[in-house]
Amino acid sequence: MDIAFDNSFHREMEGFYASAEAASPSAPRLLVFNQTLAATLGLDAADTDDDTLARLFSGATLPAGADPLAFAYAGHQFGHFSSQLGDGRALLLGEIVAPDGKRFDMQLKGSGPTPFSRNGDGKAAIGPVLREFLVSEAMAAMHVPTTRSLAAVATGDRVQRERAHPGAVLTRIAASHVRVGTFQFFAAHLGAEHVIRLSDYTIRRHYPELANAANPHLALLAAVIERQCLLVAKWMGLGFVHGVMNTDNVAVSGETIDYGPCAFMDRFAVNSVYSSIDANGRYAYGNQPAIMNWNTARFAEALLPAIHAVKPDDVEVAKKLVADVVEQFRGIWLATMRQKLGLGTPHSSDAGLIDALFDALEANGPDFTLFFRALATLLRGDASAMEALLPAPDAMAPWIASWWAQLEREPIGPLERAAAMDAVNPLYIPRNHQVEAALAAAEADDMAPFLALLEVVRAPYAERAEWTGYAQPGPAEAAPYVTFCGT
Ligand code: AMP
Ligand code: MG
Repeated sequence: MDIAFDNSFHREMEGFYASAEAASPSAPRLLVFNQTLAATLGLDAADTDDDTLARLFSGATLPAGADPLAFAYAGHQFGHFSSQLGDGRALLLGEIVAPDGKRFDMQLKGSGPTPFSRNGDGKAAIGPVLREFLVSEAMAAMHVPTTRSLAAVATGDRVQRERAHPGAVLTRIAASHVRVGTFQFFAAHLGAEHVIRLSDYTIRRHYPELANAANPHLALLAAVIERQCLLVAKWMGLGFVHGVMNTDNVAVSGETIDYGPCAFMDRFAVNSVYSSIDANGRYAYGNQPAIMNWNTARFAEALLPAIHAVKPDDVEVAKKLVADVVEQFRGIWLATMRQKLGLGTPHSSDAGLIDALFDALEANGPDFTLFFRALATLLRGDASAMEALLPAPDAMAPWIASWWAQLEREPIGPLERAAAMDAVNPLYIPRNHQVEAALAAAEADDMAPFLALLEVVRAPYAERAEWTGYAQPGPAEAAPYVTFCGT
């Protein structure tokens, strides 16, 4: 398989990365390959055998045209600044331009140590690799901006964590890997000139329409803020908890990146936390908008030297942009929720209705995903699905009555409205108990449950009789779900 690399970061951004090499896996074996994504990227993999794919996407064979490198970055981790992070277990092979003209990074994750590995082994275990594969594909199917997964390859080596696990490498496809932490690294260590170069590169690559703005760096700040608001609103609407919203895990492209200890909530609880290392709930479900806001403030700080260099007064404008994030997010969030609730026409009472919904969800704890499907089922004249989700059949009756009253102002009928809701509210998400079962089987060499679950989450909206089990939350008495960082 030929890959037509065109490595702009390597070419244009010397000094912003370290060259690196992949380790040699002892026995690479293809676990899963994303043919659909390959086709979108213009990669012709149809005639390539699994063994060749396994070698290419584990680092065993360096494809022609690759310029492997590790990105330098810093980042605030759980609120504390680490001035030296960087790709410690990832390697950019290069960039490809898809037939539609979009440029993507192709990166191996778990391919061995780099100059930024510190004490880490640069490796990844099969569980976190397959979790990222599955969840990122589910997110893409639900129209959430996200990095994608092209391949997962078992290395044949063992990776030592709390115990030994089979090792694996993920091939990640991303609009880019420029992070808030990338800006922070160059602001902290090298100052304005480097920040300006990085900002110019980011604008060329992601926001070319900003190149002629009066102050392009200020315009970049505004654009990144908007994409973060859109992204986190989508997460919140799906009950998704990213789990590790450190600034090094925030892509300036606006894609979800670095799936580590992430999870979708089953029963609604605003303080849901799944990550084993997030003892204080900094990245709990309900904190995500505030953390996004905090992260955009760190981005603004890193960009300030560039913003100031063009026009000193724009520093005040930048501060105002950050101060306004709360309000900006709120508007985007209300729009997201209106869509989920089938409210086509904005109305002054929406905000109250939506706030009241979350109070009622917190009080009654229904399954978050199924709740929105049950609302649509109510519109079809069937209350049984809703009743089954609630502690008492009429537990949310007052809220449902006010939602219903609001819907009656809408120009379209209930059946059409129900169909529109089902088109945005997924029925099949990566359920925690299903994910765990699939990863455990994969670790024991049985990929069948993983591949079956992958097929389900790739088609999240249309109900299928044979998938009934996949729509169900885990058993209520299950112990709290805990996820671990993807190391
Ligand atoms: P993460 O928590 O996955 O966002 O990673 C935070 C930082 O730790 C990044 O700089 C990673 O490259 C680095 N890191 C995580 N796991 C490893 C590992 N196994 N070996 C080397 N570096 C790692
Ligand atoms: Mg990371």
